[in-house]
Amino acid sequence: MTDSQTDQPKSVEAPSYKRVLIKISGEALMGTQQFGLHPPTVAGIAEQVVALHDLGLEICLVIGGGNIFRGLQGSAQGMERTTADYMGMLATVMNALGMQSAIESRGVDTRVISAIPMDQVCEPYIRRRAVRHLEKGRVCIFAAGTGNPYFTTDTAATLRASEMSCEALFKGTQVDGVYDSDPKTNPDAKRYDQVSYDVVLRDNLKVMDAAAIALARDNRLPIIVFSLGEPGGLPAILRGEGRFTLVEPS
Ligand code: UDP
Repeated sequence: MTDSQTDQPKSVEAPSYKRVLIKISGEALMGTQQFGLHPPTVAGIAEQVVALHDLGLEICLVIGGGNIFRGLQGSAQGMERTTADYMGMLATVMNALGMQSAIESRGVDTRVISAIPMDQVCEPYIRRRAVRHLEKGRVCIFAAGTGNPYFTTDTAATLRASEMSCEALFKGTQVDGVYDSDPKTNPDAKRYDQVSYDVVLRDNLKVMDAAAIALARDNRLPIIVFSLGEPGGLPAILRGEGRFTLVEPS
Protein backbone atom coordinates (compact mmCIF):
# COMPACT_ATOMS: atom_id res chain seq x y z
CA MET A 1 0.00 0.00 0.00
CA THR A 2 1.24 3.50 -0.73
CA ASP A 3 -0.16 6.97 -0.25
CA SER A 4 -2.01 8.64 -3.08
CA GLN A 5 1.00 10.70 -4.12
CA THR A 6 3.32 7.80 -4.97
CA ASP A 7 3.85 6.50 -8.46
CA GLN A 8 2.62 3.09 -9.55
CA PRO A 9 5.39 0.62 -8.70
CA LYS A 10 6.69 -1.54 -11.52
CA SER A 11 5.47 -4.70 -9.81
CA VAL A 12 1.84 -3.87 -10.57
CA GLU A 13 2.16 -2.82 -14.19
CA ALA A 14 -0.84 -4.10 -16.10
CA PRO A 15 0.18 -7.09 -18.20
CA SER A 16 -0.73 -7.10 -21.87
CA TYR A 17 -4.20 -8.45 -22.43
CA LYS A 18 -6.02 -9.86 -25.42
CA ARG A 19 -9.59 -9.84 -24.09
CA VAL A 20 -10.93 -7.68 -21.27
CA LEU A 21 -14.24 -6.64 -19.76
CA ILE A 22 -14.85 -3.04 -18.75
CA LYS A 23 -17.51 -2.32 -16.13
CA ILE A 24 -18.95 1.18 -16.22
CA SER A 25 -21.48 2.27 -13.62
CA GLY A 26 -24.61 4.04 -14.77
CA GLU A 27 -23.62 7.03 -12.66
CA ALA A 28 -20.46 7.45 -14.73
CA LEU A 29 -22.69 8.34 -17.70
CA MET A 30 -24.44 11.21 -15.89
CA GLY A 31 -21.52 13.65 -16.07
CA THR A 32 -22.56 16.76 -14.20
CA GLN A 33 -26.25 15.88 -14.38
CA GLN A 34 -28.30 14.36 -11.57
CA PHE A 35 -29.96 11.76 -13.79
CA GLY A 36 -29.77 10.05 -17.17
CA LEU A 37 -27.15 10.20 -19.90
CA HIS A 38 -24.83 13.17 -20.50
CA PRO A 39 -23.89 12.84 -24.21
CA PRO A 40 -20.37 14.41 -23.95
CA THR A 41 -19.54 12.10 -21.02
CA VAL A 42 -20.80 9.05 -22.90
CA ALA A 43 -18.77 10.20 -25.92
CA GLY A 44 -15.61 10.50 -23.79
CA ILE A 45 -15.99 6.94 -22.52
CA ALA A 46 -16.77 5.68 -26.03
CA GLU A 47 -13.55 7.28 -27.26
CA GLN A 48 -11.55 5.39 -24.65
CA VAL A 49 -13.23 2.13 -25.67
CA VAL A 50 -12.46 2.83 -29.33
CA ALA A 51 -8.82 3.61 -28.42
CA LEU A 52 -8.57 0.21 -26.70
CA HIS A 53 -10.16 -1.46 -29.71
CA ASP A 54 -7.56 0.24 -31.91
CA LEU A 55 -4.84 -1.32 -29.73
CA GLY A 56 -6.18 -4.69 -30.91
CA LEU A 57 -8.05 -5.75 -27.77
CA GLU A 58 -11.24 -7.76 -27.73
CA ILE A 59 -13.64 -5.78 -25.57
CA CYS A 60 -16.68 -6.65 -23.48
CA LEU A 61 -18.65 -3.91 -21.72
CA VAL A 62 -21.10 -4.12 -18.86
CA ILE A 63 -22.93 -0.90 -18.04
CA GLY A 64 -24.94 -0.30 -14.87
CA GLY A 65 -28.29 1.42 -14.58
CA GLY A 66 -27.94 3.53 -11.44
CA ASN A 67 -28.22 6.79 -13.42
CA ILE A 68 -31.81 5.83 -14.26
CA PHE A 69 -33.15 3.36 -11.71
CA ARG A 70 -31.91 1.20 -8.83
CA GLY A 71 -34.01 -1.67 -7.54
CA LEU A 72 -33.15 -0.98 -3.90
CA GLN A 73 -34.37 2.61 -4.19
CA GLY A 74 -37.60 1.43 -5.77
CA SER A 75 -38.24 -1.14 -3.06
CA ALA A 76 -37.41 1.43 -0.37
CA GLN A 77 -40.29 3.49 -1.80
CA GLY A 78 -42.71 0.58 -1.38
CA MET A 79 -42.30 -1.14 -4.73
CA GLU A 80 -42.04 -4.92 -4.80
CA ARG A 81 -38.29 -5.72 -4.89
CA THR A 82 -38.17 -8.02 -7.90
CA THR A 83 -40.27 -5.62 -10.00
CA ALA A 84 -37.95 -2.77 -9.01
CA ASP A 85 -34.93 -4.90 -9.94
CA TYR A 86 -36.38 -5.65 -13.38
CA MET A 87 -36.82 -1.90 -13.86
CA GLY A 88 -33.14 -1.50 -12.96
CA MET A 89 -32.18 -4.16 -15.50
CA LEU A 90 -34.24 -2.38 -18.19
CA ALA A 91 -32.36 0.83 -17.33
CA THR A 92 -29.09 -0.92 -18.17
CA VAL A 93 -30.48 -1.76 -21.61
CA MET A 94 -31.13 1.93 -22.30
CA ASN A 95 -27.58 2.78 -21.24
CA ALA A 96 -26.20 -0.03 -23.41
CA LEU A 97 -28.05 1.32 -26.45
CA GLY A 98 -26.72 4.81 -25.75
CA MET A 99 -23.16 3.49 -25.54
CA GLN A 100 -23.67 1.39 -28.69
CA SER A 101 -24.66 4.49 -30.59
CA ALA A 102 -21.65 6.47 -29.29
CA ILE A 103 -19.15 3.70 -30.15
CA GLU A 104 -20.61 2.91 -33.59
CA SER A 105 -20.58 6.59 -34.57
CA ARG A 106 -16.78 6.29 -34.15
CA GLY A 107 -16.59 3.44 -36.63
CA VAL A 108 -16.38 0.37 -34.40
CA ASP A 109 -18.96 -2.43 -34.71
CA THR A 110 -20.83 -3.43 -31.56
CA ARG A 111 -23.55 -5.79 -30.40
CA VAL A 112 -25.87 -5.18 -27.46
CA ILE A 113 -26.53 -8.56 -25.88
CA SER A 114 -29.27 -8.77 -23.28
CA ALA A 115 -29.71 -11.30 -20.48
CA ILE A 116 -33.46 -10.70 -20.91
CA PRO A 117 -34.51 -11.49 -24.49
CA MET A 118 -35.94 -8.51 -26.35
CA ASP A 119 -35.38 -9.43 -29.96
CA GLN A 120 -36.59 -6.21 -31.56
CA VAL A 121 -34.08 -4.21 -29.54
CA CYS A 122 -30.93 -6.32 -29.24
CA GLU A 123 -29.56 -9.86 -29.30
CA PRO A 124 -30.30 -12.45 -26.64
CA TYR A 125 -27.31 -13.73 -24.66
CA ILE A 126 -25.89 -16.87 -26.28
CA ARG A 127 -22.36 -17.42 -25.00
CA ARG A 128 -20.82 -18.98 -28.10
CA ARG A 129 -22.35 -16.32 -30.32
CA ALA A 130 -20.91 -13.58 -28.11
CA VAL A 131 -17.46 -15.18 -28.28
CA ARG A 132 -17.70 -15.17 -32.08
CA HIS A 133 -18.57 -11.46 -32.07
CA LEU A 134 -15.45 -10.77 -30.01
CA GLU A 135 -13.30 -12.81 -32.37
CA LYS A 136 -14.65 -10.72 -35.26
CA GLY A 137 -13.60 -7.53 -33.47
CA ARG A 138 -17.05 -6.39 -32.37
CA VAL A 139 -17.42 -4.76 -28.97
CA CYS A 140 -19.97 -6.79 -26.96
CA ILE A 141 -22.12 -4.67 -24.66
CA PHE A 142 -23.81 -6.97 -22.15
CA ALA A 143 -27.12 -5.54 -20.96
CA ALA A 144 -29.81 -6.42 -18.38
CA GLY A 145 -27.25 -7.56 -15.82
CA THR A 146 -27.49 -11.24 -14.97
CA GLY A 147 -31.19 -11.27 -15.89
CA ASN A 148 -32.00 -12.05 -12.24
CA PRO A 149 -33.26 -9.80 -9.45
CA TYR A 150 -31.20 -9.45 -6.24
CA PHE A 151 -27.97 -9.13 -8.23
CA THR A 152 -25.97 -6.14 -9.39
CA THR A 153 -24.23 -5.27 -12.62
CA ASP A 154 -20.91 -5.74 -10.79
CA THR A 155 -21.81 -9.40 -10.37
CA ALA A 156 -22.99 -9.48 -13.99
CA ALA A 157 -19.60 -8.06 -15.03
CA THR A 158 -17.71 -10.74 -13.11
CA LEU A 159 -19.98 -13.45 -14.50
CA ARG A 160 -19.67 -12.34 -18.13
CA ALA A 161 -15.91 -11.77 -17.79
CA SER A 162 -15.56 -15.35 -16.55
CA GLU A 163 -17.84 -16.79 -19.22
CA MET A 164 -16.04 -14.87 -21.99
CA SER A 165 -12.61 -15.96 -20.65
CA CYS A 166 -11.54 -12.35 -20.17
CA GLU A 167 -8.08 -11.96 -18.69
CA ALA A 168 -9.09 -9.02 -16.50
CA LEU A 169 -12.06 -6.96 -15.39
CA PHE A 170 -11.54 -3.18 -15.55
CA LYS A 171 -13.76 -1.42 -13.06
CA GLY A 172 -14.16 2.28 -13.82
CA THR A 173 -14.79 4.49 -10.77
CA GLN A 174 -14.64 8.15 -9.74
CA VAL A 175 -11.14 7.74 -8.20
CA ASP A 176 -7.85 6.23 -9.34
CA GLY A 177 -7.96 3.02 -7.34
CA VAL A 178 -8.98 1.40 -4.06
CA TYR A 179 -8.73 3.41 -0.82
CA ASP A 180 -9.41 2.42 2.78
CA SER A 181 -11.94 5.27 3.03
CA ASP A 182 -13.44 7.81 0.67
CA PRO A 183 -10.56 10.05 -0.54
CA LYS A 184 -13.07 12.76 -1.46
CA THR A 185 -14.07 13.21 2.19
CA ASN A 186 -10.93 11.91 3.98
CA PRO A 187 -7.64 13.53 2.83
CA ASP A 188 -5.71 10.88 4.86
CA ALA A 189 -7.29 7.97 3.01
CA LYS A 190 -4.68 5.33 2.16
CA ARG A 191 -4.51 4.04 -1.37
CA TYR A 192 -3.67 0.48 -2.36
CA ASP A 193 -1.56 -0.28 -5.44
CA GLN A 194 -2.38 -3.93 -5.06
CA VAL A 195 -4.78 -5.74 -2.72
CA SER A 196 -6.11 -9.28 -2.40
CA TYR A 197 -9.75 -10.32 -2.76
CA ASP A 198 -9.67 -11.56 0.84
CA VAL A 199 -8.56 -8.17 2.19
CA VAL A 200 -11.26 -6.44 0.11
CA LEU A 201 -13.89 -8.72 1.65
CA ARG A 202 -12.43 -8.66 5.19
CA ASP A 203 -12.07 -4.86 5.32
CA ASN A 204 -15.23 -4.20 3.33
CA LEU A 205 -13.28 -2.04 0.85
CA LYS A 206 -15.51 -0.32 -1.67
CA VAL A 207 -14.53 -2.08 -4.88
CA MET A 208 -17.56 -4.14 -5.86
CA ASP A 209 -20.23 -5.93 -3.84
CA ALA A 210 -19.23 -9.07 -1.95
CA ALA A 211 -20.94 -11.48 -4.38
CA ALA A 212 -18.96 -10.01 -7.28
CA ILE A 213 -15.63 -10.13 -5.40
CA ALA A 214 -16.23 -13.71 -4.28
CA LEU A 215 -17.00 -14.78 -7.85
CA ALA A 216 -13.85 -13.03 -9.12
CA ARG A 217 -11.80 -14.71 -6.38
CA ASP A 218 -13.21 -18.16 -7.18
CA ASN A 219 -12.39 -17.69 -10.87
CA ARG A 220 -9.03 -15.96 -10.21
CA LEU A 221 -10.17 -13.00 -12.32
CA PRO A 222 -7.93 -9.93 -11.71
CA ILE A 223 -9.81 -6.65 -11.18
CA ILE A 224 -8.20 -3.38 -12.22
CA VAL A 225 -9.81 -0.37 -10.52
CA PHE A 226 -9.17 2.90 -12.37
CA SER A 227 -10.59 6.41 -12.77
CA LEU A 228 -13.02 7.02 -15.60
CA GLY A 229 -12.57 10.76 -15.10
CA GLU A 230 -9.04 10.64 -16.52
CA PRO A 231 -9.30 11.24 -20.29
CA GLY A 232 -7.27 8.52 -21.99
CA GLY A 233 -6.76 6.79 -18.63
CA LEU A 234 -7.88 3.39 -19.82
CA PRO A 235 -5.60 3.18 -22.90
CA ALA A 236 -2.74 4.50 -20.73
CA ILE A 237 -3.13 1.59 -18.30
CA LEU A 238 -3.08 -0.87 -21.19
CA ARG A 239 0.16 0.76 -22.39
CA GLY A 240 1.67 0.10 -18.93
CA GLU A 241 1.18 3.69 -17.74
CA GLY A 242 -1.46 5.36 -15.61
CA ARG A 243 -2.72 4.71 -12.11
CA PHE A 244 -4.86 1.84 -10.93
CA THR A 245 -5.27 -0.71 -8.14
CA LEU A 246 -4.90 -4.37 -8.94
CA VAL A 247 -7.16 -6.76 -7.01
CA GLU A 248 -6.00 -10.36 -7.25
CA PRO A 249 -5.04 -13.39 -5.10
CA SER A 250 -2.51 -12.57 -2.38
N1 UDP B 1 -30.09 -5.46 -11.44
C1 UDP B 1 -30.61 -6.70 -11.13
N2 UDP B 1 -29.92 -7.82 -11.50
C2 UDP B 1 -28.73 -7.77 -12.15
C3 UDP B 1 -28.18 -6.49 -12.42
C4 UDP B 1 -28.88 -5.35 -12.07
O1 UDP B 1 -31.68 -6.80 -10.54
O2 UDP B 1 -28.15 -8.82 -12.47
C5 UDP B 1 -30.87 -4.25 -11.12
C6 UDP B 1 -30.76 -3.78 -9.68
O3 UDP B 1 -32.02 -3.32 -9.28
C7 UDP B 1 -29.79 -2.62 -9.75
C8 UDP B 1 -30.11 -2.03 -11.11
O4 UDP B 1 -30.43 -3.17 -11.92
O5 UDP B 1 -29.99 -1.68 -8.73
C9 UDP B 1 -29.02 -1.23 -11.76
O6 UDP B 1 -27.78 -1.93 -11.69
P1 UDP B 1 -26.59 -1.44 -10.74
O7 UDP B 1 -27.13 -0.87 -9.46
O8 UDP B 1 -25.62 -2.56 -10.62
O9 UDP B 1 -25.96 -0.27 -11.62
P2 UDP B 1 -24.71 0.68 -11.34
O10 UDP B 1 -24.58 0.90 -9.84
O11 UDP B 1 -23.50 -0.03 -11.87
O12 UDP B 1 -25.01 1.92 -12.12
